[in-house]
Amino acid sequence: MTSVMLRLVRSTGGDGAVADLLERAGIEHEASYLENVENWISLDEATAMFQAGVDLTGDPLFARRVGENTLRQHAGTQVATVLRSLGSTEAVLQAVAQSTARVSAVTKMEAIEAAPGRGVVMACAREGFRRRRLHCDWTAGLLAGLPILFGLPLARVEESECQTRGDAQCLYTVSWDAELAEAAADPQQRVTSLEAQLVAMSERLHGAYATAGDLVSTDDLDTVLRRIVERAADAVRAPSHILAVRTDPASELQVYSHGIDERRAEQVATATLAKEPPDGDSVLVVDVASARRQYGQLIARYPGTVEFFPQDHELLSLYAKHAAAVLDMSVALEQSTRRHEQVSALLSLSSAVAQAGTSEEVAERLVAVVPEVVDCDRTGVWLWDYLEQNLRSIAMSGPAHQEEEYLQQLIISVEDTPRLREMIAVPQPQFFDDQTEDPFMRGLMARLGVVALTTVPIVARDIFLGVLTVSVTKDPRRLRSDGELVERLTGVAALAATAIQNGQLVDKLRHKASHDPLTGLLNRVGFRHHIDRILDTARPAHGQVGLLFVDLDDFKHVNDAHGHDAGDEVIRKAAHRLESIARAGDGVARLGGDEFAVILADVGDHEQLRAAEARVRAAFREPFMLGEIVLSVGASVGGGVWPEDGQTVNELVSYADAAMYEDKARGRSSPMQV
Ligand code: GH3
Ligand code: MG
Repeated sequence: MTSVMLRLVRSTGGDGAVADLLERAGIEHEASYLENVENWISLDEATAMFQAGVDLTGDPLFARRVGENTLRQHAGTQVATVLRSLGSTEAVLQAVAQSTARVSAVTKMEAIEAAPGRGVVMACAREGFRRRRLHCDWTAGLLAGLPILFGLPLARVEESECQTRGDAQCLYTVSWDAELAEAAADPQQRVTSLEAQLVAMSERLHGAYATAGDLVSTDDLDTVLRRIVERAADAVRAPSHILAVRTDPASELQVYSHGIDERRAEQVATATLAKEPPDGDSVLVVDVASARRQYGQLIARYPGTVEFFPQDHELLSLYAKHAAAVLDMSVALEQSTRRHEQVSALLSLSSAVAQAGTSEEVAERLVAVVPEVVDCDRTGVWLWDYLEQNLRSIAMSGPAHQEEEYLQQLIISVEDTPRLREMIAVPQPQFFDDQTEDPFMRGLMARLGVVALTTVPIVARDIFLGVLTVSVTKDPRRLRSDGELVERLTGVAALAATAIQNGQLVDKLRHKASHDPLTGLLNRVGFRHHIDRILDTARPAHGQVGLLFVDLDDFKHVNDAHGHDAGDEVIRKAAHRLESIARAGDGVARLGGDEFAVILADVGDHEQLRAAEARVRAAFREPFMLGEIVLSVGASVGGGVWPEDGQTVNELVSYADAAMYEDKARGRSSPMQV
């Protein structure tokens, strides 16, 4: 009842009249409370509202109008549906006793008579209540409205007796056109009228679909948004319309306009978004927003002062919703495209690193492929040395030669920056820019000329293996810390972690294959690799390479006299002595039993070779201490220089071997004092 009453008052006098009505009636409830059909009010309140309605509208039959409009307004409600299912006006009158209870707690009603075209209904106040004049009017209106349920005009209602006039009861005689009712009830006619309704509905639906289809018929977001502004301009009368949106909060404002030049449209849009619409303009502004995102605003603008109608707001909102839906779709599409790209980039990254062998090779592959996954100018892989507790660069791509040299010798420890300790404790990507507070990182970035840097921990099964770095030298926004970038980098780091772990396993196996377990020196395989590599690099540089062969003298004797373990110890110590006379870049190998080789990476001439031989001899002049035992073990040494003494590795080896045997033979003819 109250919801019908409010709508009736609003339709003639707007929201102001509704407020007026409530004030006159002294009602404390909000209009929204009274409009909700689930709420109830007291009889006194209802009576006061009816009286206020009569006073306000000047219509003495105001309460009756409310009654008449009730079923019309609530034609779709459950109560109306139930009543309609009874099949006819007389059947509803017959059931009036039950149905009254659904809508009124104060009135009791009963059908005295109910036949096609005519019915008599008795109404009286329930115990503790009293009928009021306006209330009776409302009942009359309600009864008059019953035929509306069946598509018929209002019934005539006369109240022949009334409790408020002192009668024992209120008695209503209801009459309607029985013939019309019968015609309306004719199934054929009902089908025809329903068909007509269906056609009308289909046409409206078709129109709505056409508009929606039209809006999304093209892939081009620009075109669709432009069309939405044009349609909004058709629908909401205003000289100019502006749609200002951002597809993501950080992107540039896109402005589409109709009836206004572009530059002016941008000014109006920017000012309106900042909640400062241009002076002297009247703007109607609606948000372009969906449940996912706030995109911007749709604006209808009049130069000068104009009032917009509430319908304008509704219509403009409708087009704003269209725009938001289209933007949602476009964003979703873009995201899925990006996701696809990301997944394929990660896949190619994973297959690239899967083919790599050692950790160094893995790192080289990583730095080569990461720029395809993350938009950056430089990348680097740093490995964590657990024993030394520091990071060293193992591979990088992008930096200039000078910076590369600097990075290669750089060792970063937790003393340098607390951020490293933080990363080891909480392995998560860290973002730095030129404003970063960490002085070490700020200094490093300045030195390398990078404006944004992201470090990503490489962690495998809780073991911190190292750090992947990506950086940019311009446009720091490329490395903005957003969810997507973090996701990408984490994906890359996860791949890197497994690959590096595998690489480290390969490193170990390779080390094992090329090194002697007793001394840790290169073994025969390692020796061969090393000398091959050195000759490869020495060849173009026109340098010379020296090779020394060393064999312990009468070593069998050590084994025989002191046991195999003591012999092992001497071999280890001998290896150590050889290592200590070697220079950086030289290679020391144990070729077998008591036979060693020293590859001298950079030898100028034979004189230098002789000097190296002398250093070896000198190294064996000191006796070996094995606990209590003091042992003197000499060594025979022979050598050659590449390319003079041998063009190939084999030739050089044979030459050095022969030289060593010559030395041994010389030694035998003048044995050293043992
Ligand atoms: P020469 O002066 O002619 O070199 O005599 P040598 O006794 O040193 O004999 P040679 O170099 O021909 O043999 C090396 C010996 O070293 C043979 C073997 O008994 C011993 N040997 C080889 N490998 C090992 C090892 O791993 N540990 C120990 N303790 N002895 C080894
Ligand atoms: Mg020997």
